[in-house]
Amino acid sequence: MEQPLPPGSWIGILGGGQLGRMSAEAARRLGYRVRTYDPAPGACAAAVADEHVTAAWDDLAALDRFARGCGRVTLEFENIPPATVEHLARSVACHPSASALATCQNRRREKLFLREAGIPCAPFEVVASREALPAALARIGHPAVLKTADFGYDGKGQAKLPDAAADLDAAWARMGGAAAVLEGWVPFDLEISVLVARRADGAAVAYEPAENLHRNHILHLSISPARIDATLAGRAKALALEVAARLGLVGLLGVEMFVVGDRILVNELAPRPHNSGHQTLDAHATSQFEQHIRAVCGLDLGDPSLRRPAVMLNLLGDLWKQGGEPDWSIVARETGAHLHLYGKGRPAPGRKMGHVTLVGEDVTELAARAEALHAALAA
Ligand code: AMP
Repeated sequence: MEQPLPPGSWIGILGGGQLGRMSAEAARRLGYRVRTYDPAPGACAAAVADEHVTAAWDDLAALDRFARGCGRVTLEFENIPPATVEHLARSVACHPSASALATCQNRRREKLFLREAGIPCAPFEVVASREALPAALARIGHPAVLKTADFGYDGKGQAKLPDAAADLDAAWARMGGAAAVLEGWVPFDLEISVLVARRADGAAVAYEPAENLHRNHILHLSISPARIDATLAGRAKALALEVAARLGLVGLLGVEMFVVGDRILVNELAPRPHNSGHQTLDAHATSQFEQHIRAVCGLDLGDPSLRRPAVMLNLLGDLWKQGGEPDWSIVARETGAHLHLYGKGRPAPGRKMGHVTLVGEDVTELAARAEALHAALAA
């Protein structure tokens, strides 16, 4: 049985993006020392970590240096080669495991896992070649969406097939020649996500579902709590806890779901803190980042309850005009607004540079205010 990791110990975090940065801040507040690792120079987590390593995912000597003295290793980024985690796991406890990571980072494995576990999801077929596409489409029907099996997130590597006139050659070309998953299009009412924190001994907690609104396939607003009834919210939490248990996930799991009438379908799994959980920093008793560290280190899990309704607005690089900062005084004037900037050097369109959480009473009113805030920052 794994013993809780005492404060003062070192934790390693693979990945140096904003999720690593906010996890590192939470770890340091809990009394841990943090070493981050990222192949790209300028990783924004480095500024808040005690130590940082810049090296490739397959640089075994650098990985050994990174793991030295660490009591746990975790990750904040999904597309890390499982072999990296396997290597580290020979000398230090790694959560999540290489196998849970491998399942979540590949859409084919993820879907097959959900089917095997009896978790409801959109109808799908694995498509191994262009030649196999028409028969799969005949079984799934239109509209459908073709998705790359590997390394797809934020809607990248997807092609919608609305009707029989859809260009299958063009859709297949977007898959880059690799295997794909064909999914039936779900006429969802709402997209929600549930975060689960789970320890190695199986103890787990789930947050209330958040409601997610996307723009250009990237999360735009996340609304807590989701505007769904309590029964549905309870079922969503139970489903997410079941997914985490079946996956044997230790750490944090973001479970993205579609709500269709009274049905809930699981869309995607993220074995790490999730963008739709950033409001937990300002609106919940325990943030997802603190919960991540607690779960990985085997500490008692924190209270996940929502203290006050909140809406999170993502700040993408598009808001940085000609490299200049947006006018942050607009946020400073807004009641209940909490600004979080990730300290990334280069703003680029679509790049997640920060977020604002608006905390208040009524989520519909908060969502309207978040939209107005976004428009004012973009003007
Ligand atoms: P994904 O990369 O699978 O998370 O997809 C990105 C977004 O595309 C989702 O958040 C949905 O808005 C949309 N989407 C993906 N798959 C489906 C589907 N089967 N039916 C309807 N919308 C989908």
